[in-house]
Amino acid sequence: MTLTQATPSAQATPTLAQQVRSDFPILHQEVNGKPLVYLDNAATSQKPIAVLDAIHHYYERDNANVHRGIHTLSARATEAYEAVRDKTAQFVNAASRNEIVFTRNATEAINLVAYAWGMGSLQPGDEIILTVMEHHSNLVPWQFVAQRTGAVLKHVQLNAEEGFDFEHFTSLLSEKTKLVSVVHVSNTLGCINPVTEICAAAHQVGAKVLIDGCQSTPHLPIDVQAIDCDWFVASGHKMCGPTGAGFLYGKQAILEAMNPFLGGGEMIQDVFLDHSTYAGLPHKFEAGTPAIAEVIALGAAIDYLTAIGMDKIHAYEEELTAYLFQQLATIPNLRIYGPKPQANGSGRAALAAFTYEGLHANDLATLLDQSGVAIRSGHHCTQPLHNQLDLSSTARASLYFYNTFEEIDVFVSALKETIEFFSELL
Ligand SMILES: *Cc1c(COP(=O)(O)O)cnc(C)c1O
Repeated sequence: MTLTQATPSAQATPTLAQQVRSDFPILHQEVNGKPLVYLDNAATSQKPIAVLDAIHHYYERDNANVHRGIHTLSARATEAYEAVRDKTAQFVNAASRNEIVFTRNATEAINLVAYAWGMGSLQPGDEIILTVMEHHSNLVPWQFVAQRTGAVLKHVQLNAEEGFDFEHFTSLLSEKTKLVSVVHVSNTLGCINPVTEICAAAHQVGAKVLIDGCQSTPHLPIDVQAIDCDWFVASGHKMCGPTGAGFLYGKQAILEAMNPFLGGGEMIQDVFLDHSTYAGLPHKFEAGTPAIAEVIALGAAIDYLTAIGMDKIHAYEEELTAYLFQQLATIPNLRIYGPKPQANGSGRAALAAFTYEGLHANDLATLLDQSGVAIRSGHHCTQPLHNQLDLSSTARASLYFYNTFEEIDVFVSALKETIEFFSELL
């Protein structure tokens, strides 16, 4: 493929995106007669060849059920599957591989904690602190828990910059607080929440903390021990892995004290007709045949990201963020939500949820699709946040390390044309 120069500066060395784009076959296609510009990475990321190959290789050579067979294929499948637990533990710096539980996605991981910990531990009047910016995945399971246990939900508001209001958070904390469950990076506002400080403050009142790392794990180096969270969840499909595999991290002592979530094969030690004893960690929480191929491919995604380096990915995405915000600033009356980035692009995620007065987000997304540009429109599973901002929907462009400066140019000029087109109709 041909490499083109980055727009902001005539660099001799290719950008990260220019180095990696050939690893992503899906990016090299035309949509509606135009080169695809994929800017919906907060919904799901694209997958490199290494991940596609891992799935193919597994089914072609190693397919067998895990943990059950003595035969060679089962041993290979088990070894490959369990190796990903070590990789995942390393990737987020967990203290032990026993602290990593594979789930279908982040939603299932949050539900696991809600059912296996929340339903059994919370009493009427206990308080759960969430924020108004949470994804529905980190709201609805706690609504279930509150309805069944009598626990009370509290929500941290936005500060003046449309980020996490730490002062409001600390005002909600008390000895009644049993859980704080907070998104690390908002999929709509793009803010990076101060999770280490949140954990420290919550632990002072004896509360546990769950961090929703869906939008941080793909983009930032993660160290769960430094954050000191009690649980941390992520989805593989947003970090170059396939759908169907995510994970829960939990501190070992806390996972040990939790009841199982789903019952069935794999999670038991001995089964009698009227009761069972359970397997140790982490298998206690992995009932039934797991998503073997998907977890193995998630391992390939982790290898791929690690080989590039999460620091490098993060640094490049900051450059993209700075350029994206500079270019969007050339559109008068475009309203972007969430905190502004620093001049060097730091301080927020490489995404922008926005509105343009009088235009519906769906219409913007439909016209941009005509130019080959894929953005998201709607409430992005943060309907309470949209209500809070008095919006029914926003349009959102979300970037990843394989996006180029030129793609930002294509997006912004298509957005300008779209706005002009509609303005003439008004
Ligand atoms: C995508 C996302 C989720 C849910 O992830 P699933 O893969 O759909 O389970 C939760 N929280 C945030 C912030 C997300 O971006």
